Amino acid sequence: MSNENTHEDANAPEARTLHFIEQIIEEDNANGRFGARVHTRFPPEPNGYLHIGHAKSIILNSSMAREYNGQFNLRFDDTNPTKEDVEYVESIKEDVKWLGADWEDRLFFASDYFEQMYEYAVELIKLGKAYVCDLSADEIRATRGTPTEPGTPSPWRDRSVEENLDLFARMRAGEFPDGAKTLRAKIDMASPNFNLRDPVMYRIVHATHHRQGDKWKIYPMYDWAHGLEDSIEGITHSICTLEFEHHRPLYDWFLDQLGVYHPQQIEFARLNLTYTVMSKRKLLQLVKGNFVDGWDDPRMPTICGLRRRGYTPEALRIFCKTIGVAKFNSVIDAGVLENAVREDLNKKALRRMAVLDPIKLVIDNYPEGQVETLVAINNPENPEDGTREVSFSKVLYIERDDFMEDAPKKYFRLTPGKEVRLRYAYYVTCTSCVKDENGVVTEVHCVYDPETRGGQSPDGRKVQGTIHWVDSTSAVNAEARLYDRLFSVANPDDEQNTGVFTDYLNPDSLKIISNVKLERALADASADERFQFERVGYFTLDKNSTADNLIFNRTVSLRDSWSKVAKK
Ligand code: ATP
Ligand code: MG
Repeated sequence: MSNENTHEDANAPEARTLHFIEQIIEEDNANGRFGARVHTRFPPEPNGYLHIGHAKSIILNSSMAREYNGQFNLRFDDTNPTKEDVEYVESIKEDVKWLGADWEDRLFFASDYFEQMYEYAVELIKLGKAYVCDLSADEIRATRGTPTEPGTPSPWRDRSVEENLDLFARMRAGEFPDGAKTLRAKIDMASPNFNLRDPVMYRIVHATHHRQGDKWKIYPMYDWAHGLEDSIEGITHSICTLEFEHHRPLYDWFLDQLGVYHPQQIEFARLNLTYTVMSKRKLLQLVKGNFVDGWDDPRMPTICGLRRRGYTPEALRIFCKTIGVAKFNSVIDAGVLENAVREDLNKKALRRMAVLDPIKLVIDNYPEGQVETLVAINNPENPEDGTREVSFSKVLYIERDDFMEDAPKKYFRLTPGKEVRLRYAYYVTCTSCVKDENGVVTEVHCVYDPETRGGQSPDGRKVQGTIHWVDSTSAVNAEARLYDRLFSVANPDDEQNTGVFTDYLNPDSLKIISNVKLERALADASADERFQFERVGYFTLDKNSTADNLIFNRTVSLRDSWSKVAKK
């Protein structure tokens, strides 16, 4: 994003343009459709952890409810017992709450509607609109036809209502094995829309459901169940992703046949991000294959991973606002997400000094044994965050690459003869360095100007470089984990790629640095705090950090290092 303020401008009422879903809602409200109510939902299947794509859907649905004084439901679409688990239910609740989407007392489970759905199915059978079919899944697929040829009607299509009612009841009672029969809608085997060629409504599954136990032997298919769930809950705008566009006629057909309350399905483009995979199946493979350290590995695009990495809910909202809501699929550059978190953290992160690759800086003319206290600003973007004290003495730590023995002219950091500012402290002039037997620099020496306390020269003398430092008398040791993109190619999912997507993992996506020197104040960091290590990046405590073993995760570097590389 070149214009940092784009989304803030979008907040201003005069500049605000409605996205297409807002337009639909406003039109519906103006016409009095749904009694000018707005009621949305987020309907995850509890078969995995949520990812940033889901975050987009949660933020969209909950913000539509908030914007139009409506309501937002969290509904688990738990219709597939073999893939679902309570572990996922709990993590999803935590993630939705963390994002700030408020379902109040409206937490629902599709499985609680199974009885009602069954009644509706019986009604369709009685209307002659559904039948029990004995074809196997393979046979159903084989008789579906092609885009140019109609499907072949099932030999069971014309069973009598009585026989269908009897067989359907016996399917429910568990009389038949998995796959022996299905209940199918009787629509149109010649429809140009495959979804209308007698779709399956129920299948037989003998499995234990995480909420219903062994009560059910038949389970509803998504297309049948979803519209009913929306209808039962009084949803007005059922927002889903684009791949369901061709399912909408079926969504409508079921509700129309039953003559029940009928929400409006609206499709939008799903979020895709470069350098990322998003499908739950692939994320599960990364976890199961130990390519990452669990679902909440800070490199994962999961909400829990982003949270552990130090992302904020506000950053994800900024991101969603920036990318907008579209009708056409596209792939968003990962840099847009990184910029969103920079934008948010720039406002709220407390500034601290930390040295990732330390060497000693010795101030030869500073009194031996003296320690003084200097004042540092916590956040120049927010004066309310105030100041803190940092200690200063004869021996400091600085970054190894802030010194160069033979430096080019444009090198504004420490090199013999050059004066720089130590942040919040003094001007120092580099004099020399000490090397070990391999020629590696082990110490840098300098002299300081006592008149420049606080980093200002009374004679107006200017320096071109300012570097950060940590005082050796009070430094705290820590580990820093520097994360980079999980994949080294922009489209790890691309069908054109050879091999499997895990071949494209970035081998340098995690760099652990164990000898980091932190200023004292960071010893008291708490898990909910965000920090900017000056000149280094944004950091937050890792969940495994302890007082004796501090671990900081880098959320994001200060600037977009990838775009710099690309421009070179
Ligand atoms: P996956 O395809 O990764 O397995 P899913 O779509 O099957 O995910 P669900 O639990 O069915 O996962 O999704 C819940 C909701 O989240 C759905 O309404 C779906 O449209 C939405 N959603 C899922 N992925 C994305 C995405 N990438 N962008 C926007 N919305 C998404
Ligand atoms: Mg799904």
